[in-house]
Amino acid sequence: MAQSIDSFLHRDLRATAVSARCVFVDDWEPIDGGVIEIDREGRIADRHDRTHEAEYDLGSVALLPGLVNAHTHLEFSDIREPIAPGPPFPDWIRRLVQWRREHGWAKGDALHAGWNESACCGTTLLGEISTGGDVTPHDPMGAVIFREVIGFLPEQKDAALQAARQFLDDEIAEPGATTISRKGLSPHAPYSVHPELFNALVDLAAEHAAPVAVHLAETREELQFLRDADGPLADLLRHFGVFRDDAFNGGLRPLAYLEKLAKLEKVLVVHGNYLGPEEIDFLATRPQFSVVYCPRTHRFFEHESHPWRELLERGINVALGTDGRGSNPDLSIWNEMLLLRSRHPELEAATLADLVTRGGAVALGCDDQQGRLSVGKRACWTEVALDDACDAKVTLDSVISAGRRVTGSAVDGFRIASLFGGVDG
Ligand SMILES: [Zn+2]
Repeated sequence: MAQSIDSFLHRDLRATAVSARCVFVDDWEPIDGGVIEIDREGRIADRHDRTHEAEYDLGSVALLPGLVNAHTHLEFSDIREPIAPGPPFPDWIRRLVQWRREHGWAKGDALHAGWNESACCGTTLLGEISTGGDVTPHDPMGAVIFREVIGFLPEQKDAALQAARQFLDDEIAEPGATTISRKGLSPHAPYSVHPELFNALVDLAAEHAAPVAVHLAETREELQFLRDADGPLADLLRHFGVFRDDAFNGGLRPLAYLEKLAKLEKVLVVHGNYLGPEEIDFLATRPQFSVVYCPRTHRFFEHESHPWRELLERGINVALGTDGRGSNPDLSIWNEMLLLRSRHPELEAATLADLVTRGGAVALGCDDQQGRLSVGKRACWTEVALDDACDAKVTLDSVISAGRRVTGSAVDGFRIASLFGGVDG
C-alpha cells in the first residue's frame, strides 16, 4: 500500500528552475546536473546543465517524464488484496460482485484512495474508467476519464446511451490549475455491451471527438462468446439476468469491433491479450489505435503470452496499465514496467520507459502535453531515487532497474515528494 499523500511535501515550482542529479530530456538524452526551467503556466521553458541557475535542487534523483497509467478502475481501490484466484475469468467476475455485496461500498472513499495512491506512485497522467459519481481527480494529476457503459439487453440501450451523452455534455470540475482532463467513453466489452448499443456509442463518441477505451480480446471465453453466442460468459450474463438467447447471434471476432471503432480519433484496446494476426494486421495501418497491456493483471489471470513486442515491431502504439486492485496488488505503473524489465533484460531501457511515458500519453491523446521532458510540454516529471554513494555516470539502464524507488513527481510544475524516501507501491 502506498504512503498517504498527507506525508508528501507539496510545492508550487512554477516560474522557477529546478535541478537534479540527472534529467532525461527529449528522447531519453541524459543531462548530468540537468536543470528544468518552468514558466508561469507550468510548462517547460528550457532545459540545460547550468546548475548555478537552479533555485531548487531536487537532489540525488533521476528526473523522467511523468509516468502514465493508461488503464485503471479507481473505484476498486478499497480492495486490499487481489480477489484470487484469477482464472477462470467469469468466476472471478462473480467473486468480485460477491465481494462488493459483502463489503459494502463507500465509492467516494475508494476513488479518493485510488487518486491518492496513484499520485504517491509517481503517476502524472491516468486513463480512468468511471461508472459515475465523483470523477474529479485530486491534484496534482492529469486524467482522461472514460465513462463505462454496460447493457446487453435491447431494452437497456436508450438509458445507457442517455447516461453516456449526459456524461459527455456535463462539465468536469477541475480543482486548481493542475489537471488536464479529457472525457471519453468506455463501452465495457463485447460480452457486456450489445452490438447495437456499441455502434450507437461509437457514433456518439465520433460526434464529440471523444476517445474510446474498450476491453477487447481479453479472454478466450470472450472469443468463444463472440463466435458462438454461448459459453461461460453467456452463462455469467444469464446468471445476472442480463442475457437472452435471441439478443445475439454470434459469428463475430474482435476484428469486427476494431472495424467499427476505426472511424474514431483515439481508441484504446484494453488488454488485447488474444489479438490474432488479422487484428494485428488491421491495427498496424491505423495509428488512431493503441493497445494497453496490463502485465501484472495478465499474469494474475494466467493468460497466454501477450503479443506486445510484436505490436511494437509492427509500429502499433503500446501503453501499460495497472487495471484495478481487484486483479493487482497496487496502482504503481513503475512496478508494471519493472516486471517487464525483469522478464526482458535484453530489451533497451528506452523501449520499456516509452511504454509508461510517451506510449501512455499517445494512447490518451495527451502527447502534446506529456510523455517527454521537452521545451513547450507541461512540466510533468517523475523522480526516481539514485544511490548517493555511487559516482558512476547515470544511465537510463541504471535508473530502470529492480529496487529503484519513485520518490516524487510534478504535474504542471506542482511537485509532490515523499518525506520518507520513496514508495514501492
Ligand atoms: Zn479494466
